[in-house]
Amino acid sequence: MIDRLSLWTRAVAGEVPDTAHGAIGTPIVQATSFVVKPGDVGFSAADMREEQPFFYARWSSPTVRVLEQRLADLDDGEDAVCFATGMAAVSGLLLHVLRAGDHAVVSEVCYAGVAELARDGLRRLGIEITFADLSDLDEVRAALRPTTRLVWAETPVNPILRLADVEALAELAHRGGAALAVDSTIATPLGIRPLGLGADFVVHSLTKYACGHGDALGGVVIGSRSAMAALRQDALVHHGGAMNPNAASLILRGLVTLPLRMRAHEEGATRVARFLEGHPRVRRVLYPGLDSHPQAALARRQLRNTSGLLAFVADGGELLARQLADRLRLVLYAVSLGKHRSLLYYLPTEDLLRTSFRLEGEKAARFRALAGEGLFRLSVGLEAADEVIADLE
Ligand code: PLP
Repeated sequence: MIDRLSLWTRAVAGEVPDTAHGAIGTPIVQATSFVVKPGDVGFSAADMREEQPFFYARWSSPTVRVLEQRLADLDDGEDAVCFATGMAAVSGLLLHVLRAGDHAVVSEVCYAGVAELARDGLRRLGIEITFADLSDLDEVRAALRPTTRLVWAETPVNPILRLADVEALAELAHRGGAALAVDSTIATPLGIRPLGLGADFVVHSLTKYACGHGDALGGVVIGSRSAMAALRQDALVHHGGAMNPNAASLILRGLVTLPLRMRAHEEGATRVARFLEGHPRVRRVLYPGLDSHPQAALARRQLRNTSGLLAFVADGGELLARQLADRLRLVLYAVSLGKHRSLLYYLPTEDLLRTSFRLEGEKAARFRALAGEGLFRLSVGLEAADEVIADLE
């Protein structure tokens, strides 16, 4: 790794040319097992050592390992473990850290898959979960218990773009003896590097901005060397969600342009968000780069790039969603985010409350007040912003 260079240059030039051929780029090593010497490596995951030769590709493999080192470097971590998808990284970390009887505080709104896994999957295993608004530090303080092992934050949150004050949460969690994990998929390391603000684990769905081209699935957890060694042994070797070397190669290709793309995503999203804010049919725009964002001051303090994802509420709800899906020419009606193409997707509020978030009482009322009938989530791509705006208009 090249030290002491800017994050921008490390993203572009942090990949060392291949020593075997001098290739500028990392070869794709497809092999699933590697020749070793007797005694070099134990057969059980329990015998894994930090520095050991490649052995079997579910443990570790050369192309994926380069990606892990690149990602650890960009997020200022000691080490990283890659997984087949973002959800494999999330579930790998949660199941590694939490045991029956433990308690975790989870952001009450977060990526739907994580919310559902915490509510249904983890509770089924006897892990207690409190869903809290992590932007309200008093609520977090009240949620912490002597058995709290983990606080799970996302910043910005998918889909309402709420921010978490990572520094304050790390202090609160640590004071209560818990660890802090931050999913900063949307911000990317160009926006925030949570480990430097006190977080213990960073998680990314690499499927999104890190890959950037919408052609590979992947996930990563970044943290201390010892924590990553334990996670690899438990979550990767035993749960088995290892990343494919082809996906690793596509994501390595994506990282090279991450700084350039994030600058363009931020510029495009800011322009589209301002256009939407001025549109007569739009009731509300949620984007951390706007002065109207409820946590604009925190965004200025903690986010170096406000990314390309925004959400808006507009008159017409579901009917408007159908019209947009039919009539948009440039923006595509599809899920996901962080790709070169602009993607729009409508999330009806009652559906979200019934399936993913199940908020009740005052919390549900606050969500309805924010999201109205439904949220349009727009991932602004790399097209000319004027043309995205013209399409939406
Ligand atoms: N975290 C966030 C913030 C996401 O938006 C997503 C997917 O949309 C995930 C995690 C899960 O990632 P994957 O789809 O790669 O499993």
